[in-house]
Amino acid sequence: MSDCIFCKIAAGQIPSDKILETDDLLAFRDINPQAPVHVLIIPKKHIASAMDLAASDAGLLAKLLEGAQQIARQHRLDATGFRLVTNHGAQAGQSVFHLHFHLLGGRSMRWPPG
Ligand code: AMP
Repeated sequence: MSDCIFCKIAAGQIPSDKILETDDLLAFRDINPQAPVHVLIIPKKHIASAMDLAASDAGLLAKLLEGAQQIARQHRLDATGFRLVTNHGAQAGQSVFHLHFHLLGGRSMRWPPG
C-alpha cells in the first residue's frame, strides 16, 4: 500500500533497525520502545490488522509466530518471559494500520495492561 509506513519499511524505503528478515516478514525495533526489548514483527504483505487475516494466511501467521520465537530466543526472553500483542482499532490504540505483533520483554509486566 503506497501510503503505509510499514509497507515502506518492508520495502526498504524508510530505514529501520532490523532484527530479522525473510521473504515473508520483517522484524525491527520499535522507534518508541516500551520495554528494554520492543520489536515489531510484520508481514511484508499489507494486512491492515488481525481482523483482516484470512484462513489462507495461516502459513504466514505461523511464520510470524516462528519469527517471534526466534527473536525471543536471541534475546534470552524464552527463559525470563515476554509479551506478544497486536492491537486492533481505536480502543486498543492501534496507530499503524499494517498488522504487527509487539514483542516486549526485559522487564516485569503488569496484568491487566492499561
Ligand atoms: P500500534 O499502536 O499497536 O499500532 O503500534 C505501532 C507502533 O509502531 C508504535 O509502538 C510506534 O512506536 C511504532 N512505530 C511507528 N513508526 C515507526 C517507525 N518508523 N519505526 C519503528 N517503529 C515505529
